[in-house]
This record gives sequence, structure tokens and C-alpha cells, in this order.
Amino acid sequence: MMPDTLCPDDDTVRPTHVVVDLAQLAANMTAVRQQVGETKVMAIVKANAYGHGLIRVATHLLAKGADYLGVALYEEGILLRQAGITAPILVMGGIVSEQIPLFLKHDLTITTSSVDKLHLIDQAAATLGVTARVHLKIDTGMERIGIHYYSADRLLEASLHCPQIMVEGIYSHFANADSADLGHARLQLQRFLDVCSFYEKRGLPMPLRHIANSAAILQLPESHLDLVRPGIMLYGYYPSADCLRSVVVKPALTWKSRVVYFKVLHSNTPVSYGSTWQTDHAVRLVTVPVGYGDGYFRILSNKAEVIIRGQRHPVVGRVCMDQLMVNLEWGTAYNGDEVILLGDSLSADALAAWAGTISYEILTHINSRVPRVYLC
Ligand SMILES: *Cc1c(COP(=O)(O)O)cnc(C)c1O
Repeated sequence: MMPDTLCPDDDTVRPTHVVVDLAQLAANMTAVRQQVGETKVMAIVKANAYGHGLIRVATHLLAKGADYLGVALYEEGILLRQAGITAPILVMGGIVSEQIPLFLKHDLTITTSSVDKLHLIDQAAATLGVTARVHLKIDTGMERIGIHYYSADRLLEASLHCPQIMVEGIYSHFANADSADLGHARLQLQRFLDVCSFYEKRGLPMPLRHIANSAAILQLPESHLDLVRPGIMLYGYYPSADCLRSVVVKPALTWKSRVVYFKVLHSNTPVSYGSTWQTDHAVRLVTVPVGYGDGYFRILSNKAEVIIRGQRHPVVGRVCMDQLMVNLEWGTAYNGDEVILLGDSLSADALAAWAGTISYEILTHINSRVPRVYLC
């Protein structure tokens, strides 16, 4: 595997690579900051920072004013700590009990939604002689993880009797904040605020309350509360077609390759596995060294387009594991020419539409075989 590099012209880099514009990421971060004012920002960098490269992106976003990092997995948190990052890191996913001491050793903030796990954390922290930093997770209508809002008092109450635990935050997650109809999101927000009133009623200090993902940052300002958790918008995409675009953000990632083979095909020549496409007249065709083994989905076969020399051309025949074919018709291209797979006018939303998915899935599937190059 080639190491990530800061030098995009380095010719040892694989022809198929991703270029991430760090200045654009910073601009997106600034745009979020302006939208939320005094509210703290937790930059969500799970799934390899939505495919942009975990360590470099996390480091950069912290330097550009993120207060906190959010990841899905313990393993992602460890990678950040091993890279020397000392900022607070919330692991948002559910945990298995065996991992608790490891969380504590690496000073990772734990999400918990059960009284049992709260007690296990408290005991593990006592054994290690440390204080565990915990965020309580409340389910207000997503039905993923979190204690149901109507049973949450038990968890909040129990946390008051765990001497080794510091409840730094309390949070929930929206299921429908990206839709045009915000009814369900408003209901979730109200349920969450009702749960949080537990602290006010007892005259206790309020932990950091957070519920807003990108969609809620864009559409529901009253949900910003004490901290927001932007993911996709930091990477320059909007959560859905319906979602209000109240903040201007732009994509920072370009996925490129180069032409490695050129040929002319006669009429009636089938192309690639299964012969799902064939010429009906003579055409020029090029082969590009990228495939589903890199995360360029096979379902894009005979659907997607790429850009070569400023022109769009269709991907024809099945996308293979490591290569794909592009029909130039009678357009021009030479061996070595740049091929844009994603970037310029070809957004992750465009690829997502061809693949029947969302930009999130396109971005997070560009895998580790594709080196990331950073423009600064
Ligand atoms: C992924 C995630 C986010 C970020 O969501 P975006 O839609 O990318 O902004 C925020 N909170 C939680 C709990 C998540 O899992």
C-alpha cells in the first residue's frame, strides 16, 4: 500500500488515487462554525473520515477549530490516539463490555445507554484509578442505540451514583432531519429536551446536550444546543436532495485515474464479462485501472460516466475488480491522460444516483487500496 502523501505530482503514486483539498475542508468547517455560533463542533470522522483519510482529516479539522472528534468504533479512536491526537474523542457506537478498560486506557469518551454498562464502566474505572468520560445516549425515535426517552430517567439517576464516571454529555440522533417534513425531527427534539430537564429539576449542572447532525445543522437551528455533530457537510455534500442548503459547502475530494490502454473496436464487438454491452459501429475505447476492488461499484456498469479531457464519456460493459472500459466514440484520448471518476461536474451525488444509493456510501467505499493525496 502506498503511503498517503502531500505531494500530488509525485509519480510514484498509483495512477488511481484520491486528491483531498484540505483548504476546502477548512472552508466547510468555517461555514459550519458560522452557522452555529457559540455552539461547540464535534467533527465526525468515522469510516476513514467519509473516505477522505482519518488521520490527516482529523488533524486538519482540529487545527481549523473543531472542539471534539466523533467516530463510530473504538478501533477508529485508537488509530487517532496512536497518531498522537489528544483532543477529546467520542466513540458513538455501542460497546462490548470487554472493551471498557481499553477505552479508559486511551482516554476515549464512551457512549452508554444501559445501567448495566454504566456500572461496568464505573467498576473498570475504579480498578484503573481513573475517571471515565461518558456521554449518555437517549433514543428519541431512531431505534438504533440509546435508552428509550420514556425510560431514560433510570439511566440518568444511576449515573449520579457512579463516583468514577463523569457524565460529560447526553445525546440523541435524528432519523428524519434531512426530510422536507420536520415533524418527526421536532418530536424527537422535544422528547430529548424533556429528558434533559432531569438536570434542571434537580438543580444539577447540565451535561453537553447534542442531537444535531448535518441535516439538523442546516434545517433545525433550535436543535443546535451545546454541541453539533456535522459529518457529510464537512465533506461538502448535503444530506439529501430535500434538505435546505442554508450553509454553502463544497466537495473536497476528487477521485482520479489515468488511461492505461487505448484501442479501436469493430462493430458488433462485446465488451467485458458477460458481454453486457456491444458496439453497433466502430468506436474508440480506453481502459482505466480502477474497479469494484477499489470501491468503484459494479452496479455502475453501463450507467456511470467519467471525464477525460473535459468531456464526459460512458463506462461500458461490466466494471471489473481492477479495471473498467470507457467508450470515447470518436473522441480523443491518449495513454496517460487523466480520467476523473468523481469530481468537477461529477459529484458523489451523481454517482450515487447511478448506483441507487447516497453520497455517503460512494465516499466511504473508496477503499484503502486507493492512496489519498492531500492538497494544502
Ligand atoms: C454519522 C453520525 C453523524 C453525522 O451525520 P451526518 O449526516 O454525516 O452529518 C452524527 N451523529 C451520529 C450519532 C452519527 O452516527
